[in-house]
Amino acid sequence: MASIFSRIIAGEIPGKFVYRDELVSAFWDISPRRKVHILIVPNKEIPTVSDVTPDDELMLGRMFTAARKIAEDLGIADSGYRLIINCKEDGGQEVYHIHMHLLGGERVGPFAPRHSDLKPKGE
Ligand code: AMP
Repeated sequence: MASIFSRIIAGEIPGKFVYRDELVSAFWDISPRRKVHILIVPNKEIPTVSDVTPDDELMLGRMFTAARKIAEDLGIADSGYRLIINCKEDGGQEVYHIHMHLLGGERVGPFAPRHSDLKPKGE
C-alpha cells in the first residue's frame, strides 16, 4: 500500500505544498513542532535511510537544495533552521517513507539530551 506521503504527493490526500519538482516534494507537517515545520519527501517511495542506494544520490542531494530554497522562500534562511531525518524505531521514525524535517522560525532548542543525562529505563 502506498505511504501516506505518496498519497499526498499523488493528490489523494490534501497537503499544503511549498515546493515540488521531478524528484522531491515538500509540504507543511500536519502537526507542526515549531513555527515552521516542513517535510521534504522524495517522490519515489523509499522506506528508510537504510534503503537508499547510490542511484538515489541525485534525489538525496535535491532534498538539501530544496531545503535551502524553502528556507529562503519562507524567510528563515538567515535566522537558521534544523534539518532532521529519523530512521526506524530508535530514530523515532513514524512514517516509513523517507522525509527530512525542516524546523525553524524560532529557536528549535537542544537537539537531543546528552546520553549521560538520560535516566536508565524503569526510573
Ligand atoms: P517521523 O516521526 O520522522 O516519521 O515524522 C512523521 C511526521 O509526519 C510527523 O511529524 C507527523 O506530524 C507528520 N504527518 C503525519 N501525517 C501527515 C499528513 N497527513 N500530512 C502532513 N504531515 C503528516
